[in-house]
Amino acid sequence: AHLDRIAAVEPAVHAFLHVSGEDALATAADVDARRARGEELHALAGVPIAVKDVVVTQGVPTTAGSRILEGWRPPYDATLVARIKAAGLPILGKTNMDEFAMGSSTEHSAYGDTHNPWDLDRIPGGSGGGSAAAVAAFEAPLAIGTDTGGSIRQPAAVTGTVGVKPTYGSVSRYGLIALASSLDQAGPCTRTVLDSALLHALVGGHDPLDSTSIPEPLPDVVGAARRGADGDLSGVRVGVVRELQGEGYQAGVLARFEESLTLLREAGAEVVEVSCPHFGYALEAYYLILPAEASSNLAKFDGMRFGLRVEPEDGPVTAERVMAATRGRGFGDEVKRRIILGTYALSAGYYDAYYGSAQKVRTLIQRDFAAAFAQADVLVSPTAPTTAFRLGEKLDDPLAMYLNDVATIPVNLAGVPGLSLPAGLSDDGLPVGFQVIAPAKADDRLYRVGAALE
Ligand code: GLN
Repeated sequence: AHLDRIAAVEPAVHAFLHVSGEDALATAADVDARRARGEELHALAGVPIAVKDVVVTQGVPTTAGSRILEGWRPPYDATLVARIKAAGLPILGKTNMDEFAMGSSTEHSAYGDTHNPWDLDRIPGGSGGGSAAAVAAFEAPLAIGTDTGGSIRQPAAVTGTVGVKPTYGSVSRYGLIALASSLDQAGPCTRTVLDSALLHALVGGHDPLDSTSIPEPLPDVVGAARRGADGDLSGVRVGVVRELQGEGYQAGVLARFEESLTLLREAGAEVVEVSCPHFGYALEAYYLILPAEASSNLAKFDGMRFGLRVEPEDGPVTAERVMAATRGRGFGDEVKRRIILGTYALSAGYYDAYYGSAQKVRTLIQRDFAAAFAQADVLVSPTAPTTAFRLGEKLDDPLAMYLNDVATIPVNLAGVPGLSLPAGLSDDGLPVGFQVIAPAKADDRLYRVGAALE
């Protein structure tokens, strides 16, 4: 049924870069056979899933939205993909994204735009717009995204779906094509909070192949989602982050946010205001740290090892000239912009002034979170300042594009978990997202509060 739905809506939505129909049907048949034999199966066995194209899948094209990886078929599975396969979830295919996960609209994909199912002239968010659109358009009930600065939560907000950025180290990064290694985290994109919890529990937990993977077991996220569904939040203290509202936020977004606060109070939660004074510098710090790490991570795309190889049009074919020709042709403008920025920020003489200062700001933001979590069990904010904007509207203005992530980026800088869930429609008839943030390793709180609001 999902493959039929994909065939029907893909010409308009374009959420997928690759559909693996035969493999998905084979997995579904295998799960049926195992069920018929009376085998004990995972709760999500047989439930189809879509995977963002930044996650490597053995033998299946994986491009990270870039020309430079066109035609590359990875020789192994990411840990999270291996876990999905072992549990018997048919993988429907790979979803569209901004090139190397750099963007907030999926318009930086080298393979064309994804359209928001709510209004096809609008962006589905980014960088994981394909995963969110696939879930919103009922092409897939579950999807995997990755979130370095908001790429799971902002697409969830603008497509009326649920998206979770787990605690850093909670879901293995083995087999993710790295953007910024100290910020990247994979997580669920779904239509309900409980679905996200089930998927988080499946793909999360310790992995010896990722040196930053948390060794202790995950908190009981599924239990928390089930408990939250009873709608009782008495004893829970909710902190409204003063710096993540007001100027720059659309009136309809703020109105839905206030209504969600009312629902929290009605559920018995105590709502207080908290201040995180350094959040105002989060975007600036992020756009030094991210390009610095990305410029290093993307150095491996050299025309020798993976995908595209372009030989210089004239002159000698030296390694350096092949690299220059391949990278010049293979990377898009946004990727080049960030490689240049990052290389500059890391260069001798500027390292302390830029990268070093940004890391100090990161520490101040972590301290803001620590102080806020001394006053509240969870923090809340709108997920994104506006609803989905029109395709093309911000494409020529990188700063306007970057501003989409003001409310999501602090979460990545501190490594704490965040969830976005639908908070109703704005005055323009488009979905608004409500963000819940918890302390590191307390992802269960996201699910309890999220399920209570649903
Ligand atoms: N929009 C942000 C950026 O462009 C977030 C990206 C992400 O989370 N992968 O960096």
